[in-house]
Amino acid sequence: MLMYRLLWDPLPDTLPAPARRRFSWLRDLAAAMTASTAPMSEQEEQERVNRRVSRGAIQALVREAYRAAVAEQDSEHRPPAAFTQAWHAHLAALLDQGSPDLDGWGPITITGGDTDLAWSLFGLASRARQDAIDHATAALSRRVDRGQAVPNFEFSIVSEGEPLGDVTYGTCESCGVGLLYKIGFPDDWQFCGLGRLALSQLEARHPDLTWYTTGQSRHARGFYDRYRQGSASPWTARQHPCPHFD
Ligand SMILES: [Zn+2]
Repeated sequence: MLMYRLLWDPLPDTLPAPARRRFSWLRDLAAAMTASTAPMSEQEEQERVNRRVSRGAIQALVREAYRAAVAEQDSEHRPPAAFTQAWHAHLAALLDQGSPDLDGWGPITITGGDTDLAWSLFGLASRARQDAIDHATAALSRRVDRGQAVPNFEFSIVSEGEPLGDVTYGTCESCGVGLLYKIGFPDDWQFCGLGRLALSQLEARHPDLTWYTTGQSRHARGFYDRYRQGSASPWTARQHPCPHFD
């Protein structure tokens, strides 16, 4: 996942600027993230290490701002554009501190060049997040055994070949019902429309079923209630679909 690599992996010495054409930009960036370097003298190597450390500190700031925005999702429920704004605001606040003190890094002294790096990394990572969301798709359903008479399935919502979250459900064709057991996305990918994408796939894959959910939490109920209103398939708030799920 490019966004995670930009925030957590060692940064290359130069980052390509975002390009208009997505694919060449992603390819250049992915290549830069894995580029090997030519042999160096000891002094060159030391300079490179120092540069890496200072770039790592700036990366830690961008990551810290990202984590702060993710931590607020439980209460703020920000869709992607608003999430990016919140991430931006957290980064601006950290840079404004002059020498922000991060766990594991101590006070980080920020120069003008560091500010440029912070903002260009933020620009790349926030765009990579948006790209991951825009290109998320549902993988094929696979059978899972939950020890029930009815068949059970799961599938993932994937982007860049990696799962962003999973859906688990069962179906009873003879009674015409489907039961959604669990739809789970980590906080990083909440409120991005991916739950909606997952539920629409359930309907598309099993178009003749009435859907039940086991979602009991307040957030989950609100989500299902909103989804049901806009869905052409029948969804019900009742809890017990048919005896075959026992
Ligand atoms: Zn049944």
